[in-house]
Amino acid sequence: MKFAKVFQQVLAEEQMPEEWKERAIQYKKLKKRINKVVAELESIGISKEDVVFHYDLEMVKSEIHPHLQVKISPLEKTLIMDRLSSLDYNYEIVPLKLRELNAGGRDSTAPALDVEDVQSVAASSAASVLSAVNPFDDSGPFYELKISLLEDTKFFQVLYDEIEDLNRFRTEQEAEIANNVEAIAHEVSYATVPKMKKTDLYVWREVFQYYIECEIFFSTAEKKAGSVDIGQSKERYLKFLQMVEDSRVLHKFHQKESVLAFGEFKSLNFQIMKISNYQTFNSLAVTKILKKFDKQTQLSSKDIFPELIISSNEMNILNGSIATDICLVISSKLLTIVPQIDDYLCPICCSIAFKPIRLRCGHLFCIRCLVKLRRKHEDKCPLCRNQCLLALTTDDLDVAQMNYMKMYFPKEVREKELENSREILEEQHVIDPNSKACLIM
Ligand SMILES: [Zn+2]
Ligand SMILES: [Zn+2]
Repeated sequence: MKFAKVFQQVLAEEQMPEEWKERAIQYKKLKKRINKVVAELESIGISKEDVVFHYDLEMVKSEIHPHLQVKISPLEKTLIMDRLSSLDYNYEIVPLKLRELNAGGRDSTAPALDVEDVQSVAASSAASVLSAVNPFDDSGPFYELKISLLEDTKFFQVLYDEIEDLNRFRTEQEAEIANNVEAIAHEVSYATVPKMKKTDLYVWREVFQYYIECEIFFSTAEKKAGSVDIGQSKERYLKFLQMVEDSRVLHKFHQKESVLAFGEFKSLNFQIMKISNYQTFNSLAVTKILKKFDKQTQLSSKDIFPELIISSNEMNILNGSIATDICLVISSKLLTIVPQIDDYLCPICCSIAFKPIRLRCGHLFCIRCLVKLRRKHEDKCPLCRNQCLLALTTDDLDVAQMNYMKMYFPKEVREKELENSREILEEQHVIDPNSKACLIM
């Protein structure tokens, strides 16, 4: 199916708000503008066979100015001068030397070539024109026409304005989503207060664990790091909903704020997918329309135009995905409300690092694992091999961290304490009583 049709279908979707349609790239209208550029080139007398030395776009205070330099034959020169004389164009025609005749080529974006005796041909004498003629070149003297067209200026200006408006729209949408995230975060904080009677701390932890695992909008796996495409996002989002459903975790909610917040969390994700899809298609529409422009006019803009607008505004629909930005907001503002156990594991026993000892090197372990290491006369940190185990005292117990763990992971802490005391009891039976002092630590 043609892109124009696909794009139209995306915009015609039932849930697409009217404003979104109005602010989208006007692909069809832009296509018509390309026809006008082609007609303008023809009306001046520039044919598709002419070699374009240089096509460039310049931006002056949000205004786009295209410049065209093209090689024309003596016949075309007469014709073009004839046509342009009655029109209000800004142009220049200069004779070319042989060196330049061999250089350049269609679609060349190389800098303008030097031309000899830069002067308007209209003002130059027949003699100076003749001096540009290579006596061994029987094709006659060629000229370079430098001109600023009108219709391509309009085409790029309209496209630029539409992109700028979409950039503003994107900022508005991001702000709206950030507000929604904040509202949900507020409710989740309320429902997950540690030590509160009937707290939903563990229920939300489970929900967020599934969410993080599904990597809906952002992949953290090394090989495919970066944002994921919208089709993948939809798939992963459905997988997340399925996991939630299968685990029946939602039935464990105690607080009505939690039920409310989960409903809003679902709509939020749906909204992100919709916005992300909208942005992707608009960005694609820009790429496609530039390709079409290049194909029909034989001018090359598909690289220079995106470069120009990205350099003018880094926060651009052509530059990076909105989903990635929003994903960061969700991670930092919402998911962090409920700490995950993965961030508090002891690297040796792989269970909660309770009671936590922070070594001088900065690494954190549970006290039991360090006691066992010391017993084996180990003196180095197992992670960085820093020699800091011997200097260890009870002062190294990270009390703040310990209290935090008690507060947010009461079940895991209780389990670990039980396990520790079981181990100590077992050891007391088999180990020399002289070493007890070290075990009590
Ligand atoms: Zn441990
Ligand atoms: Zn270390």
